[in-house]
Amino acid sequence: MNIIDTHCHLDLPAFDKDREQILTSCRTLGISNIIVPAIESESWHKLLNYCYYNTALEPALGLHPVFIKKHKRSDIDLLDQYLCDHKVCAVGEIGLDFYIENTDKDKQIDFFEMQLSVAEKHNLPVILHVRKAHDEVLTLIKASNVRTGSCHAFNGSIEQAKRYIDLGFKLGFGGTMTYPGARKIHHLATTLPLDAILLETDAPDMSAYGHRGKRNQPDFIIDALNALATLKKLPVETIAAQTTQNACELFRL
Ligand SMILES: [Zn+2]
Repeated sequence: MNIIDTHCHLDLPAFDKDREQILTSCRTLGISNIIVPAIESESWHKLLNYCYYNTALEPALGLHPVFIKKHKRSDIDLLDQYLCDHKVCAVGEIGLDFYIENTDKDKQIDFFEMQLSVAEKHNLPVILHVRKAHDEVLTLIKASNVRTGSCHAFNGSIEQAKRYIDLGFKLGFGGTMTYPGARKIHHLATTLPLDAILLETDAPDMSAYGHRGKRNQPDFIIDALNALATLKKLPVETIAAQTTQNACELFRL
């Protein structure tokens, strides 16, 4: 069985003490690839370095909307330069987060649009982070020529999910599926077609039910896999095979 964690921040200091042990555990469990999206330009070099020395790790570079205050216009040129010099599987994570209070929405939109253009120029998929802004993001994607990517930790409506799928996107689901009370996520994961679904942990955040309150890690992707198999009433092997194929096609692994 092959499994891919399509969203994991394994470069963060939270993993400095046991990154190697976690990667060993992942190998044992059949987790063949882990996609590591970036947060800010300062971390790109280190992230690429980790991925260079660990063949299971696939880098994505981008500027995360939650940290919009930190990003500079020159980071966009730097991103373009990095993508000329390095092989990555996506531009990410990028998007809009209107859940944060007092955020500069215009700057977020500006940086999202500029990064969509960079992704288009380099013919790369994007990894989206979206909170309280799905309609805005869908409009901006439609206006761009980007037609492939993932919407990570999807928590929108069925209607919005279908619009993402129509645009060529897939939707990421993770540990939230393991919570007994997560009815909206259960409904989405049950209803949406399996060929549109990606598995992810979003580690070190968003721990599964059995690990709540603790640091999340990529080997906990098994919890998400089992939860999706239960929701879909399908064998775990079927879920693993299809979601892995989805991730391989999308990120060209
Ligand atoms: Zn993330």
